[in-house]
Amino acid sequence: MVIVEHLKECLEKIKKDEKKINAFIQLKDEKELIEEAKRIDEKIKKGKAGKLAGKIIAIKSNINVKGLKISCASKTLEDYYAPYNATVVEKILAEDGLIIGMANMDEFACGSSGETSAFGPARNPVNTELIPGGSSSGSACSVAAEFCDMSLGSDTGGSIRVPASNCGVVGIKPTYATVSRYGLIDLAMSLDQIGPFARNVSDASVLLDVMRGEDEKDSICKSTKKFDMKKIEQVPKQLKIGILDFKIKDERISKLIKDKVQQIAKKQNWQVKDIKIKDMDVAIDTYYPLVYVEFFSATRRFDGRRYGKRIEDSAGEEVLRRILGGAEISKEEQKGRYYYTALKVREMIKQEFSKAFKDVDCIICPTTPKLPHKIGEKVSVQEMYEYDALTVPSNLAGNCAITMPVGEVDKIPIGMQIICDEMQDEKMLQIARSFEKLI
Ligand code: GLN
Repeated sequence: MVIVEHLKECLEKIKKDEKKINAFIQLKDEKELIEEAKRIDEKIKKGKAGKLAGKIIAIKSNINVKGLKISCASKTLEDYYAPYNATVVEKILAEDGLIIGMANMDEFACGSSGETSAFGPARNPVNTELIPGGSSSGSACSVAAEFCDMSLGSDTGGSIRVPASNCGVVGIKPTYATVSRYGLIDLAMSLDQIGPFARNVSDASVLLDVMRGEDEKDSICKSTKKFDMKKIEQVPKQLKIGILDFKIKDERISKLIKDKVQQIAKKQNWQVKDIKIKDMDVAIDTYYPLVYVEFFSATRRFDGRRYGKRIEDSAGEEVLRRILGGAEISKEEQKGRYYYTALKVREMIKQEFSKAFKDVDCIICPTTPKLPHKIGEKVSVQEMYEYDALTVPSNLAGNCAITMPVGEVDKIPIGMQIICDEMQDEKMLQIARSFEKLI
């Protein structure tokens, strides 16, 4: 009974540490979980088990899992149960992944710290005084604390990569529109992408491989080829790496990453050059008007009649800020001035990346510009938004990016971000896996 035993170990850890960490909003009933694990064990015995058999998986609370709470960590939807499965959930179940429960998060995925959850902040397992980062806070914490093996998050501007970096795990934002968004509650649909967390690149690759690809329920979702797992395991003989030339607040982070990359590249005979992405410094100012407008529009369905409560009466400060901001920017008398300007800059950033990828295979940079703050510490809105300065550009450009742990500063894990051109997810995983082996 291999999986049953593994499940019991995870449940033990949860019993011991969940009070401190607050990674989950809802856990599945224990008896039900053990029954499911037994069923998967039987399948393994018969040689009929899927690719995720044996993996215990947490799901962010904005992704529908039938019968579980889809609260978005908000009072607005606190008693709302998912009536259906998101496509990614169907795919996980088809491959015998065992879903353990719904992870904590920033309310409606609005936040970078995990502190805006209506059900209390999740705490970083590495140091419980610190934020884990957000918005997929519980997804990162549950994997880092070994409550489960893998998890799903959503990344609109960095919500997978930022918490993965702070908690010392792997997190991937796949190329836009390669993973179905059907069953994900929108933050900003032109940027949102579901992606995996795991404790290593190989596990994250397997989960992403299961989730990707065309879906008739998400008309823009592209068809993709299955990953070549053998290729991902091969260390490339040649590689052109661009190190992003971008000044960040805590230079110890950029130095750590630059030194590691140069050291490894030298041994492997890989080329390294500095690379600049023009307009990267205005990525945050470009991202927020787009998010405010799209989020405002997406929240109009939470009018208190169809699902849960009226959002304006029940949501927290950050969500309300975005609804009010989005309503203002969308007003007719604004003539779309902020929105269209943001769209133009977004296109320029996209072009800059495409140009850069003609010259290099990947761009490497830190995932976060500074170390995580203490839970409850006063942080201005601007400072909170700055956590995403290095992750937002990939959402704007629609390309793919992964974060993986490379070391520590002040005993806090540091994530290295590897960005590749759109549809180059397999190459990105190969590069990340090589670094994982060589570090
Ligand atoms: N921190 C960013 C925001 O609050 C990103 C959120 C996300 O990726 N879901 O918008």
